[in-house]
Amino acid sequence: MSLDGVYDSQNIFAKIVRGEAPAVRLCEDADTLAFMDVFPQSRGHALVIHRRSTARNLLEAEPETLTSVMSMTQRVARAVRLALNPDGIMISQFNGAPAGQTVFHLHVHIIPRWADQPLGRHGAGMADIEDLKALAAQISARLPA
Ligand code: AMP
Repeated sequence: MSLDGVYDSQNIFAKIVRGEAPAVRLCEDADTLAFMDVFPQSRGHALVIHRRSTARNLLEAEPETLTSVMSMTQRVARAVRLALNPDGIMISQFNGAPAGQTVFHLHVHIIPRWADQPLGRHGAGMADIEDLKALAAQISARLPA
């Protein structure tokens, strides 16, 4: 699977949207869903996806999909800042396996960074789910109404 391919409706994020796979959800609206990355690269690593778009990556995405996904990304990034007080926030998005993409449903990473902490390895150890739920509660509490 890489830059070219067919959208697989059985991918893990499609299952999360349909409620067929678990996720620690942060917030959602009619178009998008934000949840905690279960193999986080830093404390508070979150993901934003579109609910209905079958874009596998940014190159395939409809402009309105990008608008709604980036709008939710900004909303979550602001809440992450207020909740966790990072020194920086990395926003990343990978297109194709050689670029680091492992799930072929368009998504944006929100990765808080602290000056004294190295970035964790992409897709390394699985987080403790109770820790993720506690972080999600902290972040959700700082989302604008
Ligand atoms: P990418 O490598 O950009 O495709 O990112 C996929 C991300 O999804 C990785 O950071 C994974 O840690 C994360 N991930 C994979 N499966 C799940 C899951 N079931 N719940 C939450 N995050 C996941």
